[in-house]
This record gives sequence, C-alpha cells and structure tokens, in this order.
Amino acid sequence: KQAAPTNAALEDAKLIGITVDKAKDFPGWYQQILTKGEMLDYYDVSGCYILRPPSYAIWENIQKWFDSRIKNIGVENAYFPMFVSSRVLEREKDHVEGFAPEVAWVTRAGSSELEEPIAIRPTSETVMYPYYAKWIQSYRDLPLKLNQWNSVVRWEFKHPQPFLRTREFLWQEGHTAFLTEKEATDEVLQILDFYAGVYEELLAVPVVKGTKTEKEKFAGGEFTTTVEGYIPQTGRGIQGATSHHLGQNFSKMFNLSVENPLGADHPKIFAYQNSWGLSTRVIGVMVMIHSDNKGLVIPPRVSQRQAVVIPVGITKKTTPEQRKQIHDSAYEIEKRLKQAGIRAFGDYNDNYTPGWKFSQYELKGVPLRIELGPKDIEKNQAVVVRRNDSRKYIVSLDELESRIPEILDELHNDLYNKAKEAFDTHRVIVNEWKDFVPNLNKKNVILSPWCGVTECEEDIKESSAKRDDGEEFEQDDKAPSMGAKSLCIPFQQPELKEGQKCVKCERKAVNYCMFGRSY
Ligand code: AMP
Repeated sequence: KQAAPTNAALEDAKLIGITVDKAKDFPGWYQQILTKGEMLDYYDVSGCYILRPPSYAIWENIQKWFDSRIKNIGVENAYFPMFVSSRVLEREKDHVEGFAPEVAWVTRAGSSELEEPIAIRPTSETVMYPYYAKWIQSYRDLPLKLNQWNSVVRWEFKHPQPFLRTREFLWQEGHTAFLTEKEATDEVLQILDFYAGVYEELLAVPVVKGTKTEKEKFAGGEFTTTVEGYIPQTGRGIQGATSHHLGQNFSKMFNLSVENPLGADHPKIFAYQNSWGLSTRVIGVMVMIHSDNKGLVIPPRVSQRQAVVIPVGITKKTTPEQRKQIHDSAYEIEKRLKQAGIRAFGDYNDNYTPGWKFSQYELKGVPLRIELGPKDIEKNQAVVVRRNDSRKYIVSLDELESRIPEILDELHNDLYNKAKEAFDTHRVIVNEWKDFVPNLNKKNVILSPWCGVTECEEDIKESSAKRDDGEEFEQDDKAPSMGAKSLCIPFQQPELKEGQKCVKCERKAVNYCMFGRSY
C-alpha cells in the first residue's frame, strides 16, 4: 500500500486551499478559487484584473483553435489603433447611443488638456470602417474579412466580476464586408457555430444558440445572434459570445459602397457587414460551472497543464537506489507523455509529501494526476486520478500514450454532460405568467411564448424583479436588478400552439423566448 499523506500535510494544504463553500457563498468562492488557483489577481483600478499564466494559457488555447478556423474561411488578422476621435465614433447614431455611457476618454496628455478628447475603443466598428470604405473600391475587393485580437475598454458601472464583466477585456473582434446579404448572413451563423464550438468542444460548457430581441441586439446592427450559457449555482444566464449582422447600416454611414457588378446603369451597392466577438468572459463561465470546493477544475483541452506525474510511496525505509528508480521511471513517463503531445509535467520535490502535492494540483485544476510508486513499477503500471471526480484508472505503462488521451477525452465529455444535464433540467417551459416567477426563483431559465414587443419585455423584467409573494427579490450579490431579461430567441423552438398567447400580455405569441436572471 502506498504511503498516505500525513495529517500535518493535509492540515497545511487546507489552509492554503479553498475555505469558502461554493454552495454557501458563491461570490466569495469564485474570488478565492481564482486568486488561490493563480488564475487572476486583483488590481488597483476597479474592474481591471491581471491574467496570470494559467488563465492566459487557456486564452491562448482558445485563440489557437478559433484563429485556425476563421483563417480557414478566409479571415485575416490585422491591428487597428485603440484610440478613436469623437467625430468618427459618433458617425453611427444608434451605435454611439448604445455605447456612449461606457466610453472612456483621454482628455489630457501630461499637464496639457487635449484640444479634442479622444475615446478609447469600446469596439472597433467606427475605427475600422472608414478604412474599409477607402480600401474597397470595386466589388472585386469584396469580401473583406478582418479580425483583430486586442483589448477594448468599456467603463461599465454594473458590478464588475472577474472575467465576466471587466472594464478592459481581451477579445477578438471580426469585421467582415460582403457584396450580398446572403454571404453575410451565412457567415454570421458560421461564426456562431465556432463560438458554440469554443464553449462545447474546448470548455465543456453547453450553450443555447439563438437571436437577441430588438431590445438586446447590438447597437446599430440589424440582428444579433448569440450563444447563451447557464450558471447552475445562481440559476442565472450568461451571454456567451455574439455574432452580429450589421446589414447596410454602417456601410451607408461610412459610404462603404461599390459599383453594381451588373453595370453602371444599376444602383451602387452598399456592402453587407458583420461583426462578431468573443471575450475572456468565457474563462469565467468555465470556472463557475466546473470548479468545486477543492479548487479549479479545468477542462483538459484548454488547460495549461494536462497531467502531473507524482512519485509516491517513498518512505524513510526507501533506499536511495529505490528512490532513484521511482524518480527515473516517473521522469520517463513525463517524457513519453510530452512526446505524445500531452502537456505533462512532473513534481519530484522530496520536500513536500505526495498529499500536499495532490492538494496543490487539485487547487490548480490539473485534469489528471499520475501516481507512480514502487508497487506500480513492479506491476508496470501507474495510477491515474481524475481531478473532477477522483475516479481512478490503473494504466499499463505499455499503453500510456494511447490511454491518457482517451482518459482526457472521457473527462471532457463527463464535464460537458454534467453541465448539460444541469442546464437542460433548469430550462423549463412556462406558458402562464403565474408560473413564471416561481420557476425563476427555483434557479431556472424559462422558455415562454412571447409576443416580441419591447414594452412587454420591459414589463416582464420589472414584474419578475419581485418574488411571487409580492416581496422584492432579495439581491444576492449586489446585482442591481434581478428581473428576468430576455436571453435569446432560441433557434431550436418548442412547438407554438395555434392561437397561443404571450406569457405576459394579451397579444398573440410569435415564438418562444428564453428569459432569465442574468449576469
Ligand atoms: P458585444 O460587442 O457587446 O456584442 O460583446 C461581445 C462579447 O464580449 C459579448 O458577447 C460578451 O461575451 C463579451 N463582453 C461584453 N462586455 C464584456 C465585459 N465588460 N467584460 C467581458 N466580456 C464582455
């Protein structure tokens, strides 16, 4: 039998480990898990955070995946300045109205006031499109498909949350222009599929695809598609990423037009445009869903480190030769896994007990722990333990390179299925208003037949900010209003009954809309 961790080591690990219960104090837990797991640190400008290597590595893995896919469909990367003059920012009226309250301005350089304040981009439509208009001279210059990996600044006044809502955040923003509407709308959905892929295939997070309502769509756009996630602990929805069709609204403002390919006697054509963005918010969603009271649980496809090899069973009685044999064999495992493309590493430090190391790597969310002791070496095997559920596998050393990737995939699938089950069982159909708030209070998001009218949407939000007994809803973590927002009109619709009325008003329902308290 292998040496069990000593009590002292376990006590030690507990102190540096997570001391807040996810079920009892979710915001406190979230904060601890991120800082103790070394994902992020707080900064002295409110709403800004430092991404430490483990979280930046996740972002890099997402970048790699997404970047190769958009390049495959002809998107190129470029970089535009972060500053934008007020004149240009204000070119599209609806757009600037939507963003104005959150725009940060530079008004001074050193001790001199700038003649004209300069805005920091909250998004780059107005930064880029004057140049699109300049570069696109003929229909042969279309489509133009550019993306940039950058940061944007939105001086939000809603309660900031690490990753989910920050004042500066990393994202990609894609901006494309087409000759035809069909090409543009096809691309909107193609990108949305990639976004769903980031969540489901990389982060093991299930999402619902749909369209935003008029009220919630991108300012200045034609329509917005979205992937929506769900945080089981709070029962709240979260907008995952958005892919917008801008129609010709911006191309008309920026005069992004070309001669009609049919000839000069046909009207010129304003380009059909899209913009789409996915931010570091994805990391927060992933952490909230999978992690637990022992620390982070990071899905293997994005995890900076996928497997830690730890020698075990070394005691006072172990001879130096035996110790060397265990270490050498463990190192050999690490080397073989790395060669097989697995992000493995070893911890051979004898000053810490295996138990202490176990807790450390559980805290950090390393997906697999590979234990190797004297008995294992005799049997030509290793003990592999999954971070998410402590499930153990005995793996023959002859099968390391084939079994570890399989176990990593199983782990990914189990994380995904567990999260999907939680989302599916908490997405309920409600046809009558009397059932709406009670279901919301049971941490559900709700699918209801809806009329599509903005005033009704606002009424739903206001009326659901109260408990079913008429009491104001108790605010759980300083969120300003806990009324239900429309999250999206899902592409996948329950069947609407003939003559079905809106859940809230007397009008006829036009489709099912997903509502929920949200981040
Ligand atoms: P938008 O340009 O407003 O559609 O935003 C694109 C995506 O960025 C959204 O779908 C969000 O996932 C994300 N996002 C928006 N605001 C923030 C923020 N303050 N912090 C982090 N991510 C954000």
